[in-house]
Amino acid sequence: MVKIAIIGGGIAGLTTAIALKQAGFQPEIFEAAPQIRAVGAGLVLAANAMKALKHIGIESEIIERGNALPAFVIYDSGGKVILKTDSISLSQKYGTDNFTIHRADLHAVLLSKAKNLSINLNRQAVDFIQKPDSVIIHFKDGAQLETDFLIVADGIHSAIRQKLIPGSTPRYAGYTCWRAVIDNSRLKITETSETWGVEGRFGIVPLKGNKIYWFACINAPENDLKMKKMGVSDLRIHFKHFHPAVPDILWETSDEALIHNDILDIKPLNRFAYGRILLVGDAAHATTPNMGQGACQAIEDAVTLGAILKQNPDLPAVFRLYEQKRLARTRYIINTSRNLGSLAQTRNPILATLRNFLFRLIPESFSRLQFKKLYDISF
Ligand SMILES: Cc1cc2nc3c(=O)[nH]c(=O)nc-3n(C[C@H](O)[C@H](O)[C@H](O)COP(=O)(O)OP(=O)(O)OC[C@H]3O[C@@H](n4cnc5c(N)ncnc54)[C@H](O)[C@@H]3O)c2cc1C
Repeated sequence: MVKIAIIGGGIAGLTTAIALKQAGFQPEIFEAAPQIRAVGAGLVLAANAMKALKHIGIESEIIERGNALPAFVIYDSGGKVILKTDSISLSQKYGTDNFTIHRADLHAVLLSKAKNLSINLNRQAVDFIQKPDSVIIHFKDGAQLETDFLIVADGIHSAIRQKLIPGSTPRYAGYTCWRAVIDNSRLKITETSETWGVEGRFGIVPLKGNKIYWFACINAPENDLKMKKMGVSDLRIHFKHFHPAVPDILWETSDEALIHNDILDIKPLNRFAYGRILLVGDAAHATTPNMGQGACQAIEDAVTLGAILKQNPDLPAVFRLYEQKRLARTRYIINTSRNLGSLAQTRNPILATLRNFLFRLIPESFSRLQFKKLYDISF
């Protein structure tokens, strides 16, 4: 049996392992953390990711634990609509809806599907040597492992990618982000929205089980100490001029629920396949979260790889084919998402007014074309 090691047990690593298993392989996962667990709050799984999950038979568990997201609204800070996606039935057009889910639930589903696979914890890969017939992986604890092929799924800060492609360090997007999942029993918010003001941006995503996932992005220098120290009371002051849903949500949030990090991506790469080594997920194409597509693309990667492998068991050739299929799409998402973030985060009031004016003019047919490009995929 061909030996395939997967570095990283996040969304990309777990989904890839499941897809490879379905293609007849027995991959082994090596995860740095002492346990496999989700870090973060909520997640949008757009129709393209749902289609990919359907392809590997996981869609129904996600639907069970997720919340369908029929429409999405962008407001200005006063609560006036800038853009509203109509409630076109995605399921009619693309065979499935967009869903929101708590990250922990997605991880639980993926783990349950990967339970008959070998998952090695506390195994942090730090280096590798690629030989003509194998790859040697070096772990932080001094251990080494020889494998036939290596799939790199260790996220945006991927140690292996940065050894393969020196200089492929994450780049800061210019804004920092707080996230939390809170109780929705009192607020009873049902609408998924973003609010764009010159002070920053605030997103609201209802989850199943009477919960809301929210995020707030503020422009700031990278690694800013002042931002790191900000708590909910500071966010309340910062967003006090936003329409009432925003301060209401912040009043329901405790400091303990807050997760804070700077927003990063990586400059689009020109290659994902390096002989016996393949990059997937954020290790290959981390994007800013403005389109909600990072994890969706990781899932597409895994399912694409599995689908090609079912047709062709020659791994180096499959890796190159995967690269051809994935490069342009993930490049488009990184670039579009970064540009969208810059537009959404503008602090210039004149530019913001002009942006809002122009967004209100966007015809529905244009939005539909953009959605088609994202959601209309097949494997
Ligand atoms: C604020 C925010 C909101 C987001 N919202 C969305 C959204 O709505 N929809 C969406 O699709 N995406 C979203 N994303 C993106 C999404 O979180 C990522 O794209 C996704 O988690 C990438 O999965 P991954 O498995 O590639 O990487 P990760 O989730 O980073 O997993 C990497 C795994 O590798 C392990 N690891 C790291 N280094 C090593 C090592 N050296 N050796 C062994 N193991 C290692 C880690 O412990 C981890 O388990 C968002 C991101 C952010 C920051």
